[in-house]
Amino acid sequence: MLSYQHIYHAGNLADVQKHALLARMLQYMTAKDKPLSYFETHAGRGLYALDAAEAVKTGEAAAGIDAVEAMGWFGADHPYSEALAKVRAAHGLRSYPGSPLLAAQLLRPQDRITLAELHPREFEALERAMQGTGARCMKQDGFKMLMAQTPPEPRRGLVLIDPSYELKSDYYALPGFIAKLHRKWNVGVIALWYPILTGGAHQQMLSALEAQNLPGALRHEVRFGPAREGHRMIGSGMFMVNTPYGTQDEADRLTALFEKL
Ligand code: SAM
Repeated sequence: MLSYQHIYHAGNLADVQKHALLARMLQYMTAKDKPLSYFETHAGRGLYALDAAEAVKTGEAAAGIDAVEAMGWFGADHPYSEALAKVRAAHGLRSYPGSPLLAAQLLRPQDRITLAELHPREFEALERAMQGTGARCMKQDGFKMLMAQTPPEPRRGLVLIDPSYELKSDYYALPGFIAKLHRKWNVGVIALWYPILTGGAHQQMLSALEAQNLPGALRHEVRFGPAREGHRMIGSGMFMVNTPYGTQDEADRLTALFEKL
């Protein structure tokens, strides 16, 4: 049984990197009128309350989105800020969008959103959070959902793959999964998030991904101090394929900001 719950980590520095890059990629992709297919394999619950006991207990949002907004990392015209403002207006000042709700703020009526979440309670919350967005939520294994739905119609689109890596087998399976996905959906933008852990568990996966020489690949990693003493996550990474033009600039900007933390 899965035990990971993103409420303990929502709005942390890893979310800041992942959500800022996602927001920028969607901004670039929606600049053209053509419709998009948007997928998430590991959606989470879509909407978080940063004043919930779980989030307050870890303090990760306080050291994450709260701290970086106070430092002015994202101007009002940054798509991440625009999505945050819309969600706060609808759900309260301490609300925080998970990636599906963040994406829904930036996508348009002509775009199709398909989300998978396996955990029963997270799934129920996801369905509630996504009401009125037109998103299709599926209580299903995200890897299977994506393979079954690709290549999608419309062809242009992006998938965020954001596993919790509770199953160590994910690290070994992901390079082959991404290679197969790219063969099926060669124009799809693929964004894979991974944690940077003290033991370097991600390194073999990244070497295998890079060895595939996929088109428009971009590897972006940022480092930060552990959330608590003994916490093993010391950074956050995104590996992207068919990366939208301009994403590199946002990645470079984030690198410089995280280096100053
Ligand atoms: N992407 C979300 C965000 O940024 O707001 C966070 C997602 S969280 C890191 C990972 C989620 O994947 C958890 O809610 C977990 O229950 C779910 N999950 C784990 N294995 C899954 C699978 N095979 N298929 C679908 N969901 C899965």
